[in-house]
Amino acid sequence: MSVASAPTVPLSSHFARDLPELALPWEAEEAPDPRLLVLNEPLAVELGLDPAWLRSPDGQRLLVGNLVPSGATPVAQAYAGHQFGGFSPRLGDGRALLLGEVADADGHLRDIHLKGSGRTPFARAGDGLAAVGPMLREYVISEAMQALGIPTTRSLAVVATGRSVRRDTLLPGAVLTRVAGSHLRVGSFQYARATGDTALLRRLADHALSRHYPDATQADNPYLALFGSVVAAQASLVAQWMLSGFIHGVMNTDNTTISGETIDYGPCAFLEAFDPATVYSSIDSGGRYAYGNQPGVAQWNLARLAEALLPLFHEDQDQAIPLAMEPLDSFPRQYSAAWSAGMRGKLGLPSLPTPDDNLDDDVAPPLVDELLTLLQAGGIDYTSFFRGLGGAARGDAGPVCALFPEASAFDAWVERWRALDPDADAMDRANPVYIPRNHLVEEALAAGTEGDLDPLERLLDAVTRPYDERPGLQRYAAPAPEDFGTYRTYCGT
Ligand code: AMP
Ligand code: MG
Repeated sequence: MSVASAPTVPLSSHFARDLPELALPWEAEEAPDPRLLVLNEPLAVELGLDPAWLRSPDGQRLLVGNLVPSGATPVAQAYAGHQFGGFSPRLGDGRALLLGEVADADGHLRDIHLKGSGRTPFARAGDGLAAVGPMLREYVISEAMQALGIPTTRSLAVVATGRSVRRDTLLPGAVLTRVAGSHLRVGSFQYARATGDTALLRRLADHALSRHYPDATQADNPYLALFGSVVAAQASLVAQWMLSGFIHGVMNTDNTTISGETIDYGPCAFLEAFDPATVYSSIDSGGRYAYGNQPGVAQWNLARLAEALLPLFHEDQDQAIPLAMEPLDSFPRQYSAAWSAGMRGKLGLPSLPTPDDNLDDDVAPPLVDELLTLLQAGGIDYTSFFRGLGGAARGDAGPVCALFPEASAFDAWVERWRALDPDADAMDRANPVYIPRNHLVEEALAAGTEGDLDPLERLLDAVTRPYDERPGLQRYAAPAPEDFGTYRTYCGT
């Protein structure tokens, strides 16, 4: 490690200073031969970083953690977590470091974080490293999520380290430089709670309030308001996942953020044929994190957050529990309101006067239920269907009807829906043409691992303007070819 002579990047250390019990000062492993693979120039500018400097040798050393701006304190963050339902009291950043925070153009603090930067004391049996493919995968999917308007951590860069990583074979290693509103997780609170130190728990909650929900500090019970804010953020987030067909794949409490950003793109994937039981992750043999289970899992994770926060809600546990239940029980209603409003948007129907309105004569809910049944029965590609439906709103139902295996109940459905006068232009703004389809992601990562970044750049070009249909990009809109087979994703890689 070397220390930059000039403070090229104004990194603050609010987390490390406020919460030393959760912040273990640590250094990134030396990358023998850093080589920038992809840089997110618009994001760099948003953060006040000079893209040209980031491309320089010193800039690349910063991006892998080998050049630490003066005054910065890189730390491995401690957290706990429920993984597939089982509690681990000590997880933490086994292969990651928080370099510090920068203030973005709006004055908000954003974490600059490294993934794949070497073993830390939290590494357990892991090697602390990451391979090029999975880091490019996080880059492309997180940036696609951002372009879809879904809250997410961002990807600033992927830098190949020049070191090999042993997986099934030897693979080129890389560091992802990740940017987030924060890396506070449900698991951060579980860790603080497990220490038995209520003052630490309170300091963590105060840090979260000031970073994410400053208005909640004015509430009668700010910690209950913090919890309510996280419930609202997660209900909205998971509704957006469901509307876009996103399957996170590993919704452990350590991968559930306080900010409401999507985090940790390990075994995630987008649904193709609509089926709530869809699971892609190789480690999710029980289907715990199947597409259709995600809202319920999010609420389960929020219940774990409530448990961790109980001592802050009320000093008497018996009184704290009913206090926690009210926001927790509001999750299904908030989720459904967000999802229904989003589904109306996808169908080109006007929104209800308030999202919570449940009009007795509203025809949309039964229409949506019937549609999803038809999509599932026909094994219809979710993304192509909704985009194609815009054509039907413009008068040409032929192509979307042709997606169904035979002349079917769908024809009658279309007529009923068209009678509601759907807004085709609004549909085009709600239904993406391009998502990071599994076969295209795999193609881009395989080439990137071999040093050919062109397929990745082309895929990024498509998915970072997902609603903007462009000539020449047809293959980015099409479902996987039959011979792509059953898709499996892997995490911890
Ligand atoms: P994840 O599945 O990426 O959310 O990681 C779960 C936990 O495993 C976290 O504590 C990670 O830091 C840790 N971890 C995952 N992969 C590695 C690795 N290769 N080396 C060390 N720790 C790891
Ligand atoms: Mg994680």
